Amino acid sequence: MVTSATYTRIDGKKISADIKEEIRLRVEERKAQGKKVPHLAIILVGDDGASQTYVDNKVKACKSVGFHYTMMRFADTISEEKLMKHIDHVNNDDDVDGFIVQLPLPEHISVEKITEMIRPDKDVDGFTNQNFGSIISKNPLLMPATSYGVMELLRRYNIETEGKHAVVVGASRIAGAPLSMMLTHMGRATVTICHKYTKDLASHTRAADILLVAVGKPGLITADMVKEGAVVIDIGTTRVEGPQYPKGWAILGDVDFKNVAPKCSYITPTPGGVGPMTIASLLLNTLRATELRNP
Ligand code: NAP
Repeated sequence: MVTSATYTRIDGKKISADIKEEIRLRVEERKAQGKKVPHLAIILVGDDGASQTYVDNKVKACKSVGFHYTMMRFADTISEEKLMKHIDHVNNDDDVDGFIVQLPLPEHISVEKITEMIRPDKDVDGFTNQNFGSIISKNPLLMPATSYGVMELLRRYNIETEGKHAVVVGASRIAGAPLSMMLTHMGRATVTICHKYTKDLASHTRAADILLVAVGKPGLITADMVKEGAVVIDIGTTRVEGPQYPKGWAILGDVDFKNVAPKCSYITPTPGGVGPMTIASLLLNTLRATELRNP
């Protein structure tokens, strides 16, 4: 049964704007002190429309906080070897503080090989094995951006994680897996990780004080799968087309927001929840990379 409790809609756009303003002020301060302005380089291979949009948003974000940026575009026919040479060059370019290689890459290029070539102290997406592993150290280097964004949302809404039961649905290298580790080691939560092979998913999700979903299947989480008063964080973003949407398409999360929200204490909408936080984390990581290299 769905009740009509009041819930807080977590505003990722606002928190992301707050973080950008904090970063902009730090950049101003650095400039006034004659210190280096952060410089982000973005490598884009091919002409995938969605990737282009993500990259445009990252460039816009850099401009809004006063970072320097460099866009490096390559045709999707570039060989893996040539791309690696460019990465080697950026790794050794002292003026670049952090860089990202926008995914996905063409099939003939190994994402693992390319990711592992990135210098961990410039890996502002936090994708390398070293940064992934450093989550469980006392002093993480650059944290995986999406999970970092989720942890910031929880922190800035004063949502307690210590001793809570967090259930993460989705165990990918980019989202679910690092998030589970951060919730365990930084959030001190007790964490259950669910994935494609989990039996009776609902029995796990119903036990969650905090339910975090990163799968990419719209409507996967329905109201009967959520405990009354739970915090629900929806990381899923899937573009769905259909005549019922005013633009002919819509971006949907994994959670049936309309029916789940009334059961929650806090919930993120899609869009406008976790999405804007990933870029904010990228900027935070770039600032951190700059401050580590040029205090
Ligand atoms: P992914 O690599 O495809 O991983 C999906 C995960 O979900 C896998 O662990 C998979 O299990 C699991 N899964 C699949 N079907 C399931 C089911 N029926 N029940 C439970 N678990 C299931 O995708 P991803 O890169 O993590 O992305 C997931 C979603 O988050 C996508 O919608 C993506 O667009 C979104 N995302 C958003 C942001 C953002 O900035 N907002 C950032 C990253 C990702 P197995 O491991 O067993 O295959």
